[in-house]
Amino acid sequence: MKLNQSPVTQHQFDGLSFHLKRDDQLHPLFSGNKARKFSALLNPKLDESVHAIPENIDTLISYGSVQANSLYSLAGLAKIKGWKLEYYVHNIPSWLKAQPIGNYRGALELDAQVISVKELDNAIHPREFIDGVRKPTDNCLVIPEGGRSTLSESGVKQLAVEIFDYIRMQSKSHFTVALPSGTGTTALYLHKYLKPYNIEVVTCACVGGKEYLIEQFQELGETDFPTIIDLEDKHHFGRLYKEDYEIWAALEAQTHVEFDLLYDPLMWRCIKSWASQNLKGELLYVHQGGILGNESMLLRYQREFGVESTW
Ligand SMILES: *Cc1c(COP(=O)(O)O)cnc(C)c1O
Repeated sequence: MKLNQSPVTQHQFDGLSFHLKRDDQLHPLFSGNKARKFSALLNPKLDESVHAIPENIDTLISYGSVQANSLYSLAGLAKIKGWKLEYYVHNIPSWLKAQPIGNYRGALELDAQVISVKELDNAIHPREFIDGVRKPTDNCLVIPEGGRSTLSESGVKQLAVEIFDYIRMQSKSHFTVALPSGTGTTALYLHKYLKPYNIEVVTCACVGGKEYLIEQFQELGETDFPTIIDLEDKHHFGRLYKEDYEIWAALEAQTHVEFDLLYDPLMWRCIKSWASQNLKGELLYVHQGGILGNESMLLRYQREFGVESTW
């Protein structure tokens, strides 16, 4: 099974040429940056940094949003490995339960157990529920929300190696790598492994703003960080913005590539205002997957703005 060496394609967007690392094309069940971040679990023996993972694991346990890309990716990983996945969420809306869509549906089809903590014990955070009530035994492996873990370093390092191998084969020598951040884990480790080659990594904070992103970088124990670019106005994670939808649709119209609708629009809006003054040389954008999640985002956009379906 091939879970690395994704292709790079070339595109134009509003007059800006860019290279696109296609991690959306890694594997149908296990793609995007979550595949990179969780790849150490696929083959722990190849990865000296995770030697602590016991051989007798048969259950993955994690938590987060019911529509998170990591839910679907962990379900794919568990399916490939023949493990169970227990994924704790705060709540599953009753309409979604009745008619599953997006990452939630995808995960259920892969036999993930998605458990609503609210139904079991209203007052408690899913993470506390796992520690205090579920009490994982030694056949279980608990994965922090979104894969924010040093466990993700080796898989992202592999991505950095592939990007470097691509760049050094190009006639143009100066490249900037761009990608949006949630936990920042992917951008942080890409920066760590690309900086020695003089390749700058730029990112934006999709969750909680710049200061919060820096805190998350620090929690992973690193001291040198990628460049964070932003918009003038505050942008809230998961909220719907007409400008986000418009740039997402324009990207698809001009590149014929479907981008993710949760993270990518903010990064492209940041790039558009940043690039004219600050981009030196070539831009390489990392497509981090997340396409299945667009189904639920598009439904929300349709409800909110009544946008025409383009899918
Ligand atoms: C998870 C995810 C991100 C954020 O990745 P981090 O490593 O948490 O910063 C960005 N884009 C997509 C499509 C994702 O699924």
